[in-house]
Amino acid sequence: MLSNPMLFEVRQAGIKGFGIFARQRIARGSRILSERPLLLVDQKEINILAAASRLSKAELDTLLGLSVNKAKRESLWNLVDALFQSAQLPLSKKGRRSIQQRRDILACFYNNNFALSLSPPHRDDGTNTINTATKTSAARGVFPTIARLNHSCIPNAQGNFNRNVDEGSFTIHALREIAAGEEITVSYLHDELASHEERQHWLHRVYGFWCQCGICAGGDEAHRSHKRRQRLRDELSKAFAPTTPLLSDSLGLSGPPNTAAVGNAAQMDISASRQLVNLTIETYEQEGLVGGELASLYGVAAALADSAGDHGEAMRLGARSMELERDAAGEDSPLYQMRRQSFESMQFDQGGSSLSRFAAAAPKAQSSEDDNALSYAPWT
Ligand SMILES: [Zn+2]
Repeated sequence: MLSNPMLFEVRQAGIKGFGIFARQRIARGSRILSERPLLLVDQKEINILAAASRLSKAELDTLLGLSVNKAKRESLWNLVDALFQSAQLPLSKKGRRSIQQRRDILACFYNNNFALSLSPPHRDDGTNTINTATKTSAARGVFPTIARLNHSCIPNAQGNFNRNVDEGSFTIHALREIAAGEEITVSYLHDELASHEERQHWLHRVYGFWCQCGICAGGDEAHRSHKRRQRLRDELSKAFAPTTPLLSDSLGLSGPPNTAAVGNAAQMDISASRQLVNLTIETYEQEGLVGGELASLYGVAAALADSAGDHGEAMRLGARSMELERDAAGEDSPLYQMRRQSFESMQFDQGGSSLSRFAAAAPKAQSSEDDNALSYAPWT
């Protein structure tokens, strides 16, 4: 189910194994491909081996041909997990496959699955997958072509689950123009603004590779990126320090209660929040990070501007938020449609606070039951 095979090809990508490359120039916002899941593990059926037992021989070969983190495949916990899940299989299926093959099925699944709905990000290191399996409620799928997309900390594409495409498919969109011959990449990270050390540690532990992208390979670009991220981190930790003198003074904590001061504090709070959100947006943009996370940030910035009575700015920020979401997910995506609804209700309701509506449209604030949203975090 590849929507536009003329746009890309799967081929060897050096030490990274397979990768996906642009066959021609791809415009920003293009849907590069969409794919239905090969293997789907839903909320009710957390047993991956039971789901895999329904695959045909060819489908199983496709799954087992995907890349694995070798260290994790060989780990004791992966073997224990395979034994644990085997014990829960129906009697008719117990004897069919060797324990080695079951272990490989799990390793391939964990290394290549995507969440079809949002679950709270978890950074389990995979040493306790039994526990993870029972805690995780979101459906997970393996998409064999999309699984060939390699990681970059500054990706040029983004994946989303879209229930409106072919009864539910994972789509890949170009976040910026991609040149002919350029590798198409997505981010495997939970936190796009993670530090160099955090990124390398996480990617190596979960996927077994050291990232060599533009901001990981050293040199000036990596240095500038490190400085920008560090600056944002410093500002955020200052802002979230237990008590800032400014806030306690204006709240009148050291004197009698003062309602005017409380009002000022609330105003100060919105103004400080706007500054922080703007700095975060600025950092994303300087880093070249666009897509759904930036769309959410613009949504929050629009809501804060609206709350502060700055309606013109709120409109501008809201429109940018929609544009980013459309590029990353497409106009038929429920994510984009929700964001557009929030924006339209803000336009017809000037003066009221839109914070709650924008918060509802931000992917991070959605409940785990919402099957429109995407967490790019794989179940590891
Ligand atoms: Zn990197």
